[in-house]
Amino acid sequence: MKTKKRYILDLEPGELAGEIRKLDPARFRIKQILSWVYAKKAPSFDVFSDVPAGMRRALGDGFLLRTLTIAEKTVSSADGTARYDFRTMDGQTIPAVLLPAKDRTSACISTQIGCPAGCSLCRSGKTAFKRNLTRGEILEQLLAMENDSGRKIGGVLFMGMGEPLFNLKNLESVLRTLTDPELFGIGRRHITVSTVGIVPKIMELSKARTGVKLAVSLHAPDDRVRRVFVPEKIGYGVEQVMKAAADFARENDSVLTVEYALVAGENDSMQNAEKLVKLIRRTDLGPDSVKVNLIPFNPTRGMKWRPPSEEETAKFCDVLKSGKVLAIVRKAKGADIGSACGQLGI
Ligand code: SAH
Repeated sequence: MKTKKRYILDLEPGELAGEIRKLDPARFRIKQILSWVYAKKAPSFDVFSDVPAGMRRALGDGFLLRTLTIAEKTVSSADGTARYDFRTMDGQTIPAVLLPAKDRTSACISTQIGCPAGCSLCRSGKTAFKRNLTRGEILEQLLAMENDSGRKIGGVLFMGMGEPLFNLKNLESVLRTLTDPELFGIGRRHITVSTVGIVPKIMELSKARTGVKLAVSLHAPDDRVRRVFVPEKIGYGVEQVMKAAADFARENDSVLTVEYALVAGENDSMQNAEKLVKLIRRTDLGPDSVKVNLIPFNPTRGMKWRPPSEEETAKFCDVLKSGKVLAIVRKAKGADIGSACGQLGI
């Protein structure tokens, strides 16, 4: 059923302020209502307890505060990771993952329905692209997971379904809201945007000086190997991607993450590791400004590849370390419930 109500989370905070002023000219209302929506994460207008009933009703008549419903939730018995599949108003599915941890609970969220990049190793790439998520739909994934779990999310990974930089305008709007101390108030260092390497968009995001961290899904030290995983149509070579990513890290004073999914027999040789060290050296980033996340390939439906053995993985990691490159092997979280890297298809 179509509704004429406006989705409150889709409005930029400044735009929402204008709407609030129309309902009540008192200036303090703006701060109060923005705080209920974003800082206190209220799930309905009814709980805006210090807002007069008449105004709460007017908000309810004019706006929607939530549009997503939880279609499915699965919790990993192995590590407590929770996968949420949200249903949108137009019947699409958005996967998101809550990663509880003692020090800081993080969330991995989606930016598109399906993914136009079409990487061969990733389940999202096999999901037909439908549309971009709106600003509100991106933010609501976080609000809904906090409401449902009762946990405070202190870190955000744009590593769910979709290519964040293909939805750049909404991404930038979301990043401003996440880092605003009056709204979500998440430290910029605890936000990572992951990209398959869309060079001009990396440069554009860099200019916005959000100060968030960038991760590039490289998976290969040269273009020949990269073609196995990332379609040619994406069109940017490893040198170009690394240059743009390194400039981003310098301009935003943040640490660059290089993501490298290890696939046995495809990109896990010691020569590949040595070449990766050289590629990283050529960026001129200091040893504390770049780190490599090695992700042993997570098997996903319909894909024949497998990860290297633990010993092979450790050897690859050691080559990077002896080349003075910070490297870690990332443990798969939520692999038993299809919520690890590369498994977020629908
Ligand atoms: N489109 C963005 C955001 C998705 S992030 C990007 O490409 O960065 C998802 C991460 O998981 C990427 O680094 C991706 O390459 C990695 N990945 C995809 N499939 C994988 C698999 N089967 N095993 C391990 N990692 C995988």
